[in-house]
Amino acid sequence: MNLDRNEIFLAGEWVTPQATSAIEVENPATEEVIATVPAGSAADVDRAVRAAQQAFPAWAATSGQERAKGLRRLHEALARRASAIAETVTTEVGTPMRIATRIQTDQPIAMLAAFADIAEQEPEPERIGNSVIVREAAGVVGAITPWNYPLHQIVCKLAPALAAGCTVVLKPSEIAPLSAYLLFDAIVEAGLPAGTVNLVPGMGPDAGEALARHPDVDLVSFTGSVAAGARVAELAAPTIKRVTLELGGKSANVILDDADLKTAVKVGVANAFLNGGQTCNAWTRMLVPAARHDEALDLAAGFAAGYVPGDPLDPATKLGPLVSGRQRERVRTFIRAGIDEGARLVTGGADAPGKPARGYYVSPTVFGDVNPDGVLAQEEIFGPVLSLIPHGGDAEAVAIANNSRYGLHGAVWSADPDRALAVARRLRTGSVDVNGGAYNPLAPAGGYKQSGVGRELGRYGMQEFCEIKSIQL
Ligand code: NAD
Repeated sequence: MNLDRNEIFLAGEWVTPQATSAIEVENPATEEVIATVPAGSAADVDRAVRAAQQAFPAWAATSGQERAKGLRRLHEALARRASAIAETVTTEVGTPMRIATRIQTDQPIAMLAAFADIAEQEPEPERIGNSVIVREAAGVVGAITPWNYPLHQIVCKLAPALAAGCTVVLKPSEIAPLSAYLLFDAIVEAGLPAGTVNLVPGMGPDAGEALARHPDVDLVSFTGSVAAGARVAELAAPTIKRVTLELGGKSANVILDDADLKTAVKVGVANAFLNGGQTCNAWTRMLVPAARHDEALDLAAGFAAGYVPGDPLDPATKLGPLVSGRQRERVRTFIRAGIDEGARLVTGGADAPGKPARGYYVSPTVFGDVNPDGVLAQEEIFGPVLSLIPHGGDAEAVAIANNSRYGLHGAVWSADPDRALAVARRLRTGSVDVNGGAYNPLAPAGGYKQSGVGRELGRYGMQEFCEIKSIQL
């Protein structure tokens, strides 16, 4: 099947880009090129921004109800493509099908419906003394997204931006751009007004930088690495754009001494290895009571053995390949560095797992006695690598958890919910799960410290795309 896409989408139409080069998209399970997409240029970005700018006044002037109708049509058109999306994400990212269906597909589809609801429930303007406070659309949004949850990360920006009345130019990840094309097929079917959403795939330093520095982009919403996020903020600064950044993480799973150790370790391993560990809020540091460290390590190694690398299209597979050869090399380098710095490797390692014979696989890897200041505990590895760190009680656990330049997410386990909550409150992170608390797609998500600026999801996520105006009466 030919999956090549040769066009970009702007002003409501598929058009030939001015770019002359193409980006090859690889299937990480087979190491084969499966498609090409255009490598959009600064000129393509400029055309797309102009289209978004022209569409902005009319879209911003629509009511919340009208915008909700558009989002619901898009929700339905995307839902009709659910199986194609799951298969596409599995093929371009390597996410196991069972996870791709649930998290990479069902979740972004549901999120469109959730933002339709939020658009509909526009709050009454607030009164402060003689002033009426209104929220208005921020303007033209440049959205730049990563490859690990490609459609989800896009919808996290596009849906609230549209709900708020903004228009959008999207530059998806060059590594996994195919699901974005399926979204835009759905956008065509949904009949959103021309120019409200525009697509220019391309490389970060080309199309990405052109979007971040474009003088007619009012807000850049970026998800990705700290290095690229810092560059985006730098490029946005001269024109004082608003910038939201959703960046990396090194989340701590804090297990207190009264917790159900087996459950906490089991859920912790599953969380750390989700999507091959290529998850921004993965609990990659497991903080365990020192007296139970070896018991926890045995349990973790046992649960890790259930994550046998395999074909992501096989519904039984729990651990697929890493997204690229480059990512695999990066992860292997970190594993070797962990061994060199004296951490105790109990399962996995840097060697190829042997099976499957092709694909960018890394064995599920667990280290014990990890130095909280060392490479394994400090760097975002983005692979199936879990580090156990012993702690001597609640205060020390909090100190170790907060010993990170990141502050995205975390977890706490205790038989005493009040004690768990007290520890959760002391973690310097944007979100914390207590005793395996379920993911809430309406709760704001984002980072402290170098994990970012701003929040996504739910009504807090929509507020990022609004300006606030005071009208004195
Ligand atoms: P990346 O920073 O390499 O790329 C992200 C996007 O930025 C891509 O579209 C890329 O083309 C673009 N980009 C790269 N350089 C750029 C530049 N100079 N100017 C403008 N755009 C540029 O990140 P990635 O490898 O795609 O994704 C992995 C990273 O994303 C990890 O650090 C992960 O933690 C982070 N992430 C964060 C969240 C979150 O919500 N906080 C979610 C998912 C991923």
